[in-house]
Amino acid sequence: MSAPKKLFIKTYGCQMNVYDSERMAEALGGEGYVETKSADDADMILLNTCHIREKAAEKVYSELGRFKGLKADKPDLKIGVAGCVAQAEGEEIMRRQPLVDLVVGPQSYHRLPEMEAKAREGEKVLDTDFPEEDKFEKLKSRPKAKRGPTAFLTVQEGCDKFCAFCVVPYTRGAEVSRPADRILREAQDLVGRGVREITLLGQNVNAYHGAGPNGDLTLAQLIWELDKIDGLERIRFTTSHPNDMQDDLIEAHGTCAKLMPYLHLPVQAGSDKILKRMNRAHTAESYIRLIERIRAARPDILISGDFIVGFPEETEEDFQATMDLVEEVKYGTAYSFKYSTRPGTPAAERAQVDPAAADDRLQRLQALLTKQQREVQDSMVGREVGVLFEKTGRLPGQMVGKSDYLHAVHVADCSREVGDLARVRIVSSGANSLAGELIG
Ligand code: SAM
Ligand code: SF4
Repeated sequence: MSAPKKLFIKTYGCQMNVYDSERMAEALGGEGYVETKSADDADMILLNTCHIREKAAEKVYSELGRFKGLKADKPDLKIGVAGCVAQAEGEEIMRRQPLVDLVVGPQSYHRLPEMEAKAREGEKVLDTDFPEEDKFEKLKSRPKAKRGPTAFLTVQEGCDKFCAFCVVPYTRGAEVSRPADRILREAQDLVGRGVREITLLGQNVNAYHGAGPNGDLTLAQLIWELDKIDGLERIRFTTSHPNDMQDDLIEAHGTCAKLMPYLHLPVQAGSDKILKRMNRAHTAESYIRLIERIRAARPDILISGDFIVGFPEETEEDFQATMDLVEEVKYGTAYSFKYSTRPGTPAAERAQVDPAAADDRLQRLQALLTKQQREVQDSMVGREVGVLFEKTGRLPGQMVGKSDYLHAVHVADCSREVGDLARVRIVSSGANSLAGELIG
C-alpha cells in the first residue's frame, strides 16, 4: 500500500470557512489524503480564503509567494486556492501566481477530487461555478471517527441582503437553506461522534427557511427539532441579521434550555443616515428595541456585534451615534473594522473618509467595546455557569472549556474530561478568560 498523501489546509476568515475546510479535507480524505499541520511535508496545499476586507485578500498572495521554495524543492506539490478570494479573483490568481494549480469556489468544492486528479496530470484547473446540483448532497457522507465536543454545521449559505459594503452576495451567491432532514441527519452523526455542542452557521442564519416535512421550517423550528437529539447539549447559531430576528426565535431564547444565552447580532453603525447608505434596512432605534425584546425573553443573554467605522460619508456626528448605541446596548463582545473598499460593491464608488479619521474612530470604538467586554466578563465572578470542557490546560490537572456565554473558563485540579459538561462557579476574571471551580 502506498503512503497516504499529505494535505495542508490553511483557513482564513469566518466560521463557514472553518466548516468548509473540514468538508474539503474529508472530500480529499476519500482520495487518500491525510491532514498535516505543516506545509513543508504536504503533497497538496489548500488556502481557504476570505475576501471580506482588502487585507484579508492580500494575505493570500503573500502566503502563496512563500510557497515558491517548497514547490521548487518538490515539483509534485499541488497548490490550490479555495473560498471567497478564489470565487472573486479566480483567473487573476492564476495569472498573478503561476504556482497555483487549482482554484475552487465555495459552491463547487464537492468537485475537488476530480479537480485534484486533473491537477496531478499537470492541468491548471479552475471551477468557480454556482452549480445547480447541491454541493452537500454530492459530498461523500462524513467520516464516523470520534471528534471533539464542538462542531459547526452550515445550514444556510449566501445572502440576498446586498449591504452596500459587502462582497458576500457576490462571492457566496444567493441565499439557499439546506433541507431540515439533511441537517438533522448530519447533527445526529456529529453527536454519534462525540459532539455535544453544535453551532448552526449561515451568512444570514436567522433567515433560514429550509424544507421540512410540512413546509419550510424557521430557524427556531429547526432548533426545536435539534433539541430532541439525545446527547446534544448545546445549540448556538451565527450570524444573524436584525431584520430576520423573528418572534419564535426570540421566544426560543427564553424557553429552549439547549439554546445558549449568546447572540451575535451585528448592527454595523448607530447613525440612521449611515445605516440607510449601507442598505441595512433597519434603524438604530429599531435595533435597540429589538435588543430590549430579546433581553425581555432571556435577561442574561450576552450580546455580540459587528461594527464598521469610516464608511463613506461618515461624519464625526455619525460616529458619535455609533458610540451612543454601544453605550446603550452594552456588548459582551464585538468585532469592529475599518471600512475596506471592495471593488464591485456600491459603496466602493462613494467619497471615502479620511483614513486617519477612520483609524482614530476605530481606536475610540475599540476602547469602549473592550471596556464593556471586560465589565461583562468581570460580572461573571461569583456566578454559576455551565462549562463544556474542550481541552486540557497548560497546567497539570487543568481543564479548559467554554461557558454558556462563550467565555473561556479554566478549572484547576479538574476531575472532568474533554466533552464533559459541568456546573462551575466563577472565582476570578483574567485578561481573556475566567477561572472557576467545579460545583459538587
Ligand atoms: N451576515 C453578517 C451580517 O450581516 O452581520 C456578516 C457577514 S460578514 C462576513 C462579517 C462582518 O464583516 C460584517 O458584519 C461587517 O461588519 C464586516 N464587513 C463586511 N464587509 C466589510 C467591508 N467592506 N469593510 C469592513 N468590514 C466589513
Ligand atoms: Fe454581507 Fe449584509 Fe449579507 Fe451580512 S447581511 S452577508 S453584511 S450583505
